[in-house]
Amino acid sequence: MSDCIFCKIVSGEIPSTNVYKDEQVTAFRDINPAAPTHILIVPNRHIDSVNFMTTKDEPLIGRLFSIAKQLAAQEGIAESGYRLIVNTNADAGQAVFHIHLHLLGGRQLTTLG
Ligand code: AMP
Repeated sequence: MSDCIFCKIVSGEIPSTNVYKDEQVTAFRDINPAAPTHILIVPNRHIDSVNFMTTKDEPLIGRLFSIAKQLAAQEGIAESGYRLIVNTNADAGQAVFHIHLHLLGGRQLTTLG
């Protein structure tokens, strides 16, 4: 999508601090980190949100979790713990409408809600 900021990050049009990239997935550091480790893991193909995923996207979405696991180990937070978040629409505070998994860790995270 031409006006999507994460599509522009995937294509390299907008700079980002990438920590992982393959033909399906890109992961980069959040520009406004909420924790010592705050990485966004996104599919290279545009999907607006969980509301727009289909059953054919299940392997791709599963892959986001596998990469999150790998990055958590790489960041040294696999044992201390981390949180994976996917915001959907206004009540969850979704700001960027390109599905993404937040990987947060490196400090004690407060309760949800
Ligand atoms: P969400 O509220 O789940 O849609 O999260 C969007 C996240 O994208 C926020 O944590 C932002 O700080 C982050 N973000 C927005 N623009 C950029 C950017 N250019 N590079 C890295 N992270 C970004």
